[in-house]
Amino acid sequence: MSTISNGGLGSTLLTPTVPKRRDRLVPVLVGRPKRVLLAAPRGYCAGVDRAVIAVEKALEQYGAPVYVRKQIVHNIYVVSELEKQGAIFVDEVEEVPLGSHIVFSAHGVSPAVVQGAADRDLQAIDATCPLVTKVHREAIRFAKQDYRILLIGHEGHEEVEGTMGHAPDRMILIGTPEEADVVEVPEGERLIWLSQTTLSVDETMETVRRLRARFPHLQDPPSDDICYATQNRQVAIKKIAPESDLVIVVGSVNSSNSVRLVEVALEYGAKAAYLIDYSTEIRQEWFDGVATIAVTSGASVPEVLVEQVLLDLQDAGFDRVEEVKTAEEDLQFSLPKELRRDKEGNVDQSTLGGRTRA
Ligand code: SF4
Repeated sequence: MSTISNGGLGSTLLTPTVPKRRDRLVPVLVGRPKRVLLAAPRGYCAGVDRAVIAVEKALEQYGAPVYVRKQIVHNIYVVSELEKQGAIFVDEVEEVPLGSHIVFSAHGVSPAVVQGAADRDLQAIDATCPLVTKVHREAIRFAKQDYRILLIGHEGHEEVEGTMGHAPDRMILIGTPEEADVVEVPEGERLIWLSQTTLSVDETMETVRRLRARFPHLQDPPSDDICYATQNRQVAIKKIAPESDLVIVVGSVNSSNSVRLVEVALEYGAKAAYLIDYSTEIRQEWFDGVATIAVTSGASVPEVLVEQVLLDLQDAGFDRVEEVKTAEEDLQFSLPKELRRDKEGNVDQSTLGGRTRA
């Protein structure tokens, strides 16, 4: 049984490894009824669930250690739990002993990284989210058709590095709406924009609006690159942020979609919003004058971390929890093909739908 793949919203498991507060939050007095609005959807997306299970299954199938290039997903709790099970996280394939097993993270890799792994005779398991792979394919296709590709994304993010690596000569990275006002594009070329999967929908549309004002022939991607999970979590927080005195987003600082949730909450009227990895980071003074707290979590966050937050909020008197659901999610992805067979070489049917455990 996995200790961390219980991203399902119905989970009530609290693993003993979730950090707990040493102190207790004390009930706050406020002249209005106290409540928690719990955003749904929140937490694990299909791509994260698949990537985490891929590492666990690789450990099961090949034994420890299994190397993982970069954080498998951007969450420090998930990474530390997988390390306990025998995963070793590295920055580059050059750090991995020849012939070892390596898992590529959910954020995807460039062809140069795949080649680097092959050069070291590494047994690669590709846990790139299929929705990131979709953007890679678009980049390859439009580069072949001689488009100039304007990639909207954050410089230095692993996903952006992987996507740009698929068509390095044809891409221009645009990080902000302001950059859209000044970017230089060669004349006479067909132009299309693509994006990182975990951006703010509103900010991306603003970037596109400014680009199109300068380049009216700019084409849209064939389908949304900002993934369903990023969009759904933003829609949910937009709905509850206006009535929230405080928004708590569970997620790590390097998780793009989690950081976006804080920004979106503030933009849509939350009086304050904080990003935390663990409930131990909640501070008593955040509750001054607060009656309504919204809670959500990024797409790489297991539900156990949210459950611990809710338990601690109970101590502060926020024991009325209302879930506000704005979408249903049932997408599941098959595991990477290297992991779909059992020890006897038969296709393991349980791996074809992504989530393989309760
Ligand atoms: S956030 Fe979106 S793109 Fe990233 S792993 Fe999840 S489903 Fe895939």
